[in-house]
Amino acid sequence: MFIKPRYESTELQLLRYLSKRMNLTDKEKQYYVNLKKGYEGELSFDMLLENLSDEWLILSDLLLEVNNTMFQIDSLLVSRHSIFLFEVKNYEGDYYIDADKWYSVASGNEIKDPLLQLKRSEFLLRRLLQDLNFNFSIEAYLIFISPKFTLYQAPRNLPIIFPTQLHYFMKNLNKKSSKLNEKHSGFAELLVNKHLNDSSFTQVPNYDYEQLRKGVICKCCYSFLISREENKLVCAKCLCKEDIESAILRNVEQLTLLFPDKKVTTNLVHEWCEAIVSKKRVWRILTKNFRKVGQGKFSYYVHLPKS
Ligand SMILES: [Zn+2]
Repeated sequence: MFIKPRYESTELQLLRYLSKRMNLTDKEKQYYVNLKKGYEGELSFDMLLENLSDEWLILSDLLLEVNNTMFQIDSLLVSRHSIFLFEVKNYEGDYYIDADKWYSVASGNEIKDPLLQLKRSEFLLRRLLQDLNFNFSIEAYLIFISPKFTLYQAPRNLPIIFPTQLHYFMKNLNKKSSKLNEKHSGFAELLVNKHLNDSSFTQVPNYDYEQLRKGVICKCCYSFLISREENKLVCAKCLCKEDIESAILRNVEQLTLLFPDKKVTTNLVHEWCEAIVSKKRVWRILTKNFRKVGQGKFSYYVHLPKS
């Protein structure tokens, strides 16, 4: 049972929109691609976890702090006797280990040892459990999720689950499940409450409104090739159709995520959507879905309070 679901990070969303609306440097592109790939790997692992019985409490993507040190956990499972900690890697290609160091076969370069990251998270989680007076044991594993990944010269005793082993690993986990009690659910709840929202997007490039390409982006393939067809917007690239209202609102969400300080006005949204619909239509959509603040030409729109 998922207690805490996984969401796409704001950083990843920002980079996705920026990658469409401005030119990223090769380094920025590479960072975005890696971030996206990592997230997709985590989602694939979530799909495997979905097959576990409801006796497992699953917490995805936790950012925790102990002793002023932050650490991130891709997936954490609470079972009767142990806490399972998973670091998910979506690496593709051939790698090898030599004298405890990891290398990419393609480049011959040393890469960051992902086991060190796992050990760090395990250590900090143990500290946190001690602080919170829980005495669960921890089992930590590095998960390689992509079937396109190969690791040569890996000792057999490493806490690694390879793509070919995932099926049996999950099957065995399910065999282990057993009744949980209030202590377990209390612990899971406590971790959810301790989860921090990270607002440091240090890897997002600088950008400004004038510089970004305007226009509606397709919800399916993120292209700009959108044309109107009665009440729908149609993507010329992937033929995906979307109601005009939902497409405009989605692009307003992008606008407010990219520019949280900008006041949402009819003119701004009209320009941002490259006049794909009339100002009157934009005004109607905003009036219906947002709260209007002020009057006349100084009015702008804010989100309706969540009911
Ligand atoms: Zn499309």
